[in-house]
Amino acid sequence: MKEKISAIKGTKDILPKEARKWQRVEAIARRVFELYGYREIRTPIFEATELFEKGTGQTSDIVIKEMYTFHDKAGRSLTLRPEYTPSVVRSIIEHRLYLMPEPLRFYYVGPMFRYDKPQKGRYRQFDQGDIEVFGEMDPAVDAEIVEMANFLLKKLSVTGVEILVNSVGCSACRPTYLKELRVGAEKARDSLCPDCQRKIKTNPLRIFDCKVESCREIAKGFPKITKYLCTECEEHFHKFCTYLEFYKLPFKLEPHLVRGIDYYTKTTFEFVSKKLGAQDAILGGGRYDDMMKEFGGPDICGIGFAIGMGRLISVVPSKKRKEGFLYLAYLGEEAKKTGMELVQLLRSKGLECLIEFKERSLKNQMSRANKLGATWVLIVGEDEVREGKYQLKNMATGVQKEATREEILEMIQEGP
Ligand code: AMP
Repeated sequence: MKEKISAIKGTKDILPKEARKWQRVEAIARRVFELYGYREIRTPIFEATELFEKGTGQTSDIVIKEMYTFHDKAGRSLTLRPEYTPSVVRSIIEHRLYLMPEPLRFYYVGPMFRYDKPQKGRYRQFDQGDIEVFGEMDPAVDAEIVEMANFLLKKLSVTGVEILVNSVGCSACRPTYLKELRVGAEKARDSLCPDCQRKIKTNPLRIFDCKVESCREIAKGFPKITKYLCTECEEHFHKFCTYLEFYKLPFKLEPHLVRGIDYYTKTTFEFVSKKLGAQDAILGGGRYDDMMKEFGGPDICGIGFAIGMGRLISVVPSKKRKEGFLYLAYLGEEAKKTGMELVQLLRSKGLECLIEFKERSLKNQMSRANKLGATWVLIVGEDEVREGKYQLKNMATGVQKEATREEILEMIQEGP
């Protein structure tokens, strides 16, 4: 027997039945982002490796363990993007988008790649819906993007979501906190996994990202950043929370929410759902006020979030399709051609039609239409061709009527 080729571990086919739901959710997400003044930006799927090393951060698990890095034929180190923000920042600087009068609000929906351990809700290729805002320092925008995410979930009838918020401080106050955190982590060194032991030195914040259960438990007892925030960060966080209250959004303070990526400053947040199991985050984001500057661009602050589209779609209730489709049943070559022409007309009027090009008896064609869930069957036989009158059967009511092409159009416009 020939060996079967399967999809690569950690990747997933989205089959036609599921793809419809993806299309619907993506379309609603795009619409919501546009409603809030965001515009789409598309960047390449692979970039220079140093972009992510610099952006996502040398101490993040993503850069250390999870990047799909390869050398191209010219020997250049490239990486399949593990996240979107560094690409957007690169593009803004490259095209000097900050000089444009438009607001710097961007969105994107597409695949990301991380070589993580696959499990339910965690894939090596997964889709994110991503938004970024640049040049808005007011904490009202932090709250507005949380409100936008919440609005999107409401539009998709997603329930049972909790909003977690935190502040990770800035370059002024974080060093003091890191010192305290190091002291706390050092005390627990022997109980931590080797990875976390290494993180004590490199970046103790990253211990909070560890996926080992015992490390997670120990980390719960570590100092909390909230106590160490400088006046500016504290005020920013306080105002952010006040604006969330203004939007009547319930939220929970989660002082250890640091979110896996090195560039965050001040606000971080996550939306989690109990319906998801171990990988419970639907979306997460935060501020990155220093990133543009660090990439050699102007000193423009930034904030954004990324939705895990797969996880989101798994908690979106399915909808029954409203629009119907027509199945053509025909007998003989002449009828086939007349049917093909009728179907062409109906499609031009926006009706989904299906013709199966196989010689079948009428009974067989009716049973196929039934199995496929057709709303209508248009029956064209030799008599029909001669008289210019066709049979249209409504599959829900079982009523079959003789109709001219004009009458068919009218009946179909009335709906099933
Ligand atoms: P991050 O870019 O790590 O902040 O992740 C943002 C969101 O993307 C998370 O809240 C998840 O919903 C989703 N996500 C991250 N990593 C994966 C993955 N490996 N597989 C599926 N979804 C993911």
